[in-house]
Amino acid sequence: MSAVRKPIICCALALISGLHWACSGAYAGEYPPPGSRTGPQNIILLIGDGMGPAHIKAYREYIDDPATPGAEKLAFDPYLVGSLDTDSSDPPGNITDSASSATAYATGVRTIDGALSVDAQNRPLGTVLEHAKALGMATGLVATSDIVHATPAAFASHQLDREQKNDIANQYFDNQHNGMPMVDILLGGGHKYFVRDDRDLVSEFVGKGYSLLRNRPQLINAQGDKLLGLFAREGLDKMWDRNPTTPSLADMARVAVRALSNNARGFFLMVEGSQIDWAAHDNDIVGVISEMQDFDLAVAAMLEFAHDEGNTLVIATADHETGGLSIGSKDSGEDLYFWDVDVIKTFSHTPAKITDEAQASGNLIDAFHDATTLNLTEKERKNLGRVDLANWDKTRRAVSQVINRRSYTGWTTYGHTAVDVNLYAYGPGSESLRGHWENTRLGQRIFQLLK
Ligand SMILES: [Zn+2]
Repeated sequence: MSAVRKPIICCALALISGLHWACSGAYAGEYPPPGSRTGPQNIILLIGDGMGPAHIKAYREYIDDPATPGAEKLAFDPYLVGSLDTDSSDPPGNITDSASSATAYATGVRTIDGALSVDAQNRPLGTVLEHAKALGMATGLVATSDIVHATPAAFASHQLDREQKNDIANQYFDNQHNGMPMVDILLGGGHKYFVRDDRDLVSEFVGKGYSLLRNRPQLINAQGDKLLGLFAREGLDKMWDRNPTTPSLADMARVAVRALSNNARGFFLMVEGSQIDWAAHDNDIVGVISEMQDFDLAVAAMLEFAHDEGNTLVIATADHETGGLSIGSKDSGEDLYFWDVDVIKTFSHTPAKITDEAQASGNLIDAFHDATTLNLTEKERKNLGRVDLANWDKTRRAVSQVINRRSYTGWTTYGHTAVDVNLYAYGPGSESLRGHWENTRLGQRIFQLLK
């Protein structure tokens, strides 16, 4: 499939980006010399999956130090340039999923929900990552989900169905450029999609010179500029639930830019805070704060790199809003102008880990008290005591509901909403992103900035 597909990708790429080189795959002699591109040397795109304006506000409240005047800031707060409309293409006005939204950023084209860098007729669309590779740049994908999940997958694979994760993993190896896989640095979860009965992609990557990394110490000490880091069977644990051998998003992003910087022609890197969305799908505000923290620290690390390097564009945004999160709710039964962040501050880990512990011990009340100093009311104690612990989702949801009521956190849905997302940019080219745009505009601008 990929042998047939590659020239099509290349031609689609040439069409979209206005490039005119032959679609032969032999680019070696045609790279622009290092430093000759007019756009920024490096582009880092950070995506907080599901991160709407209320998720950002909630985290800002969480990090606020009452002892200092004014509110503490997120790393990207000084660099707000605009907002993006995230609708998908079919029908117009439909709410997007992560696949069609990531396709808009990766290709500059809107597609149907579930599709990864193909149009509704399954025709491949060239991506900014493939374009960067064709220019001789280094490329990387970093995520806290499995690395074949929709957002990273849209940058380096072409699939009508985002759930075909084995095929997406195959494409990461099979879609090659000059005899090497298209992505130089792959860091995230999803080991089970790479080592399967029918294929051992880890061995194939290692055969091409990639270093395999399975834990944080291996990541921190990684050498070389081809890295395959798979730190969990599927998604990584949430930041507040991780053990010390699991890297943070900032750890992975730092190692990625260190390795990618070896290329004199620059790099394109996408970094995703994947599980802000997952926590919001569960209406879990503690999980949202945990994953916002992971994302914020990664943004800070990338901005620090960009400050020092001087010719790097850092873009941060979300792919859509998840949960219809609201800072304040009618749950209290009163007309109360209050959101109680202190309730969230009492937690040391998230409802996901509380649920795991309850299933192991058979006691949800004890597991709840292990995670927080919050005292349960008699009614809450009774409700949690009745939960069927065999049902993981229902247990976690029951825990989240207690926290939502106590903190006056509101949610309108377990799905996505059409709320606009914020757009942040720092570095050369950032001015060109100022304003409110359709999400496709971001992908189109990245193609232009790679010139
Ligand atoms: Zn989602």
